[in-house]
Amino acid sequence: MVVFRNFLYFLIVFGVFSSCQQKNSEMEVQGEVREDSLRSYTKTLADDQFLGRMPFTEGETITVNYLVDRMKAFGLEPGNGDSYIQRVPLVDIKGSPDPMVKIECKNDQLDWTLGEDFVAYSEQEVEEIALEDSEFIFCGYGVVAPEYDWNDFEGLDLSGKTIVVVVNDPGLYSGDSTFFKGPSMTYYGRWTYKYEEAARQGAAGVLIVHDTEMAGYPWTVVRNSWTSSQQGLQKSNKGADKAKVQGWITTSAAESLFTLAGQDFQTLKEQARQPGFEAVPLDARWSISIRNQMTYNESQNVIARIPGEEGNQENLIFTAHWDHFGIATPVNGDSIYNGAVDNATGVAALMEIGRTYVATGFKPKRSIIFLFVTAEEQGLLGSAYYAEHPLYPPSSTVANLNLDALDAIGAMSDVTMIGYGHSTFDEILQEEAKRQDRYIVPDQDPEKGYFFRSDHFNFAKIGIPALYAKGSYESREHGVQYAEQKSNEYTNNHYHQPSDEYHDSMNFDGIVEDVQLYYNIGWRIATGELTPEWKPESEFSR
Ligand SMILES: [Zn+2]
Repeated sequence: MVVFRNFLYFLIVFGVFSSCQQKNSEMEVQGEVREDSLRSYTKTLADDQFLGRMPFTEGETITVNYLVDRMKAFGLEPGNGDSYIQRVPLVDIKGSPDPMVKIECKNDQLDWTLGEDFVAYSEQEVEEIALEDSEFIFCGYGVVAPEYDWNDFEGLDLSGKTIVVVVNDPGLYSGDSTFFKGPSMTYYGRWTYKYEEAARQGAAGVLIVHDTEMAGYPWTVVRNSWTSSQQGLQKSNKGADKAKVQGWITTSAAESLFTLAGQDFQTLKEQARQPGFEAVPLDARWSISIRNQMTYNESQNVIARIPGEEGNQENLIFTAHWDHFGIATPVNGDSIYNGAVDNATGVAALMEIGRTYVATGFKPKRSIIFLFVTAEEQGLLGSAYYAEHPLYPPSSTVANLNLDALDAIGAMSDVTMIGYGHSTFDEILQEEAKRQDRYIVPDQDPEKGYFFRSDHFNFAKIGIPALYAKGSYESREHGVQYAEQKSNEYTNNHYHQPSDEYHDSMNFDGIVEDVQLYYNIGWRIATGELTPEWKPESEFSR
């Protein structure tokens, strides 16, 4: 109230009251998203009947039909010519590794059990993959970063060898924000990077040592994600450039391997983050075989639009991934990975934003695209495909607004921004958050690399300013600790597990506010009032 009165005073004093008021009423955001809609879409998408929304399965057909049907019913136009579908050619690889592998050194040996000690898979589209007597070598973080004068592979010949690397990057515990990015994870910290670099170095195998804190999720997430089948975009070389075997081991498996080889894992791990670290060959080897079963198929992105003014080529794209893990390893007798929070909430958000824009009769200047992408859980594949085959030119796409896994833990005082500092979305979000009596904070867990873990990353990579934000730091009612406790509870007990289910007892107050926030920002971008820009210091501004 006080703010409002001061604002009026300001307007009167400067004599701009009437003209400004008129302008505001033209531009003013209209329409409010509804909690009951958001709940009902989330509940539907997370229903057992949707079979965990796994690409290539009946769950995909049900989900895609539902989304297309709703888009039509809400009055949104098809986003791909006269179709609501963008086909995404994928390959599904179902790998069956040896359930038990032997690690041998000169006069001793140990066994690793699949799922308990290790997971392994191969992205090579070959039916039989095998490593025989492959020597282990510890390569620290597995990073080559010339800008930090860092190379964990200096002078190594890795052919036939299996490299063991730790997750994250050397900056994590350095306390120096200019060394890599200190606690903020750089792309060098992501598992996808570790595999890419291992392949470039010619390693036959690569094993990442899991650590809950450094990875940002517990071992069960690794196990559940990597013992089901894996999907990728179809490649002309059939994945021949990849390392033969990729995988993860637990910290305790690493410790016993290093001990067997007469080394101490914790000591070497510590040394690995010192500049000048050199890889340490381990006097141990393993053999493993994986049988791969390939299915070539097409999955689907769902795309709908609200057209802008005639002749205006510009657009903005809302994204949320519709997919989850389908039916997989049972946990407590439940095998359907419903993905209520992840990401039925985000899909529901896009549906409700689209429905409300149309229902309020919004006539935007720029087109508004709603893109429900597939196979995010398999490595952001649907959005990667869109970025490689955009249906709207990236040069006229002014923004991407992405929503993923909204917390159902009540109204939040904050808006946490993943990837703060890259674009003028910083200021745009700050202003919009203020209207909701909220404040913005940068990602509180930058070491977990969330910036690289959702679909907006693929839009940022092709130069489109991208927003990914949600309340998660401070509960309006119960404060910071409560929010932290609740979000840990979700990460540890439900994230990527069959128990990520919809319950009527879920508190949607925060979700409603987050969705309204996106609605408002989308509105202002669509009218042309706002246009986000990269900041020159961002690596994406190039
Ligand atoms: Zn997920």
